[in-house]
Amino acid sequence: MKILKFNKKPSKIVAVGLNYIDHAKELNMRIPDEPVIFLKPPSSVIFNNEKIKYPKMSKQVDYEAELAVVIGKKCKNVSEENSKKYILGYACLNDVTARDLQKKDRQWTRAKSFDTFCPVGPHIVSGINPDQLKIELFLNGKLKQSSNTKNLIFKIGKLVSFISKIMTLEKYDVIATGTPVGVGPVKIGDKIEVKIEKIGTLKNYVVSEK
Ligand code: MG
Repeated sequence: MKILKFNKKPSKIVAVGLNYIDHAKELNMRIPDEPVIFLKPPSSVIFNNEKIKYPKMSKQVDYEAELAVVIGKKCKNVSEENSKKYILGYACLNDVTARDLQKKDRQWTRAKSFDTFCPVGPHIVSGINPDQLKIELFLNGKLKQSSNTKNLIFKIGKLVSFISKIMTLEKYDVIATGTPVGVGPVKIGDKIEVKIEKIGTLKNYVVSEK
């Protein structure tokens, strides 16, 4: 196990929707037979202890605790078996989402892309098995999400392989692997912590947009 600083912004964040069965059910969405992916822009990235700005355009902003995969080497058309060679390590990620805008627009770009909507960190951990890690989210110290990456519908190797068949992955690119059941709204002043076993805790605060 090795701990690396997370201080490089990715060229893109590829996020996976509906990758835990329970979360798909809570949103009334069909379980996908292939990964459903979308992009978050690099401008949405913030790091540990930085502030999430609540946009005036939204009335419901939700947290989503996720395991992040950080790519270590430029790659394309990677097989599932070789995928680990291209992974630098793992981190916590919060796929912050303007839920009202996600429902209204039906496609997700606006809802997922506001500045500060992609906290990652607190560091990158390598040399761990990502397929069996406890994942939790605490809102103001209260447990709101609790699951394990063993419940992922599409596992890490499958995701890296699938995405790399679509687009070239660059060093430091991030894959957000999906959130478990228990998503919910935040308000200005809240403290949000994403905690993943063997990785650590990513902490951010919600502030008003100025
Ligand atoms: Mg998500």
